[in-house]
Amino acid sequence: MTAPAASPLTAPRVEPLADPRALYLHVPFCPQVCPYCDFHKMRRSEGLVAAYVERVAAEAAATAARWPGTLDTLYVGGGTPSHLSDAELDAVLGAIARNWGGLGSVETTLEADPLTFDRERAARWRAQGITRVSIGLQSTQDDVLRFLGRSHRGGDGLQAIADARAAGLEVSADVITAVPGQDAERDLRAVAAAGADHVSVYTLTIEAHTPFARRGVAVDDDRAADDFDLAEAVLGEHGFERYEVSNHARPGHRSRHNPVYWRGEACLALGPGAAGLLPPEADDPADTAAVRTMNPPIKAWLRGDPPERTPLGGRDFALEKLMTGLRTVEGVDLDGLRATTGIDVATSFPDALATALRHGLLVRDGPRLSATRAGIRVLNAVLRGFFAEGG
Ligand code: SF4
Repeated sequence: MTAPAASPLTAPRVEPLADPRALYLHVPFCPQVCPYCDFHKMRRSEGLVAAYVERVAAEAAATAARWPGTLDTLYVGGGTPSHLSDAELDAVLGAIARNWGGLGSVETTLEADPLTFDRERAARWRAQGITRVSIGLQSTQDDVLRFLGRSHRGGDGLQAIADARAAGLEVSADVITAVPGQDAERDLRAVAAAGADHVSVYTLTIEAHTPFARRGVAVDDDRAADDFDLAEAVLGEHGFERYEVSNHARPGHRSRHNPVYWRGEACLALGPGAAGLLPPEADDPADTAAVRTMNPPIKAWLRGDPPERTPLGGRDFALEKLMTGLRTVEGVDLDGLRATTGIDVATSFPDALATALRHGLLVRDGPRLSATRAGIRVLNAVLRGFFAEGG
């Protein structure tokens, strides 16, 4: 027997994705190229940076013509955005402010390398409208930083936290764990004591085609799991709360930008290699719930080539939302997910859901589905169950 086609009466009503109020700008220039990094990055040359700044201004104007309004969050990431000069930073921030009604109450985050600023420069950033820095500190131990191919030393990272705080910026610091030879507890205690408001803790991962992969560097899984628990314990002692798998904040200092990704909300993207998420356009397939966009690498981007667009049907978008939302302490609002994707998780992924609930890896509280402590540790395996059933 053939199932009846969904009629307008039986098809789930899908709410369109709200227009973007978040913007990600990718700055691909770095003072060094780290052996574990697989981001779109390069060393700077003056001609290239000048062309980049000019192209950002043009891309901002064209993007704002299609998606006008005001922004709630702006995240300037990379690469190393703080490797831009003051004048270059003025130019790109100015282009964004001009096109989206200023940066007044916008949470504006700048990723910064410890060696690229001092207290005076941090104060200048604050005056330019930057509210938050995300410092690529990684470790406070010189031998670990050397192993990671970083130019700064432990004292530089701690000084950077102090300088940014003195300038009135909110401070987030990145720490990498499970690095061979690292005392992760020492790093976490030092960063907390230095006064960071927010700490992002990432396990060292060996990405294919990186120098670390070619050298055969390996990460010890047990060590990675121990460091994961250690981060929550040590930062918890200092008043931090883990609010996403990798992110810990003191009260009132959660990022406003990153939850945009975790909740599957729209986000504009500027710069080479930048990824965004947009509401569907009229000529997208009828079942499109959202469109993933990916800007081309720098050469094609400078030429003005458009982003690659990938329309996501309701099922694919629902899987993305599960993948990011289950990483957060709030979990996923299943009613909201059904409204924006047309997918009912209980009926679309019955086996994966039942298995994870039965094993105590996920828990359901009304419309909210979240990962338990045990589930967070094996989240990738839990998600594989959903993807396998959704395939
Ligand atoms: S500074 Fe950051 S973006 Fe640049 S190469 Fe190192 S890890 Fe990658």
